[in-house]
Amino acid sequence: MPETTQFDCVSCGACCAPAENWLTYVEVTSRDYSRLPLRYRLRVLNGELPLRERDGARRCIALRGQLGEKVACDIYRLRPDACRRFEAGSPHCHAARREILGVPLPVRAAPEMV
Ligand code: SF4
Ligand code: SF4
Repeated sequence: MPETTQFDCVSCGACCAPAENWLTYVEVTSRDYSRLPLRYRLRVLNGELPLRERDGARRCIALRGQLGEKVACDIYRLRPDACRRFEAGSPHCHAARREILGVPLPVRAAPEMV
């Protein structure tokens, strides 16, 4: 998940749950590895964070909560650079939303519109 944006990432999480049947997902560079908590370092596999199955979907081991409802990254401040580069509102974001949740991207109303 990206930094705070106008997009409601905390009710999404689609980009942290790839549709493919992979074992691992996010690249963990040596710089990423050095800041990861020990319990996550021990789970790194072939230089990536692994996925796990939950509620019938594969998802990053750091993702907490319910996809499409309320989610959080357990290592948000320490997450890999690859996660930081992912842009909310980008074509990849829209594709993840469509593929994983099958719903359009929720956009928070701008303050002046509320
Ligand atoms: S898919 Fe897009 S809206 Fe959903 S969590 Fe990722 S960046 Fe946010
Ligand atoms: S480390 Fe956090 S932001 Fe990155 S894929 Fe996993 S849950 Fe998502």
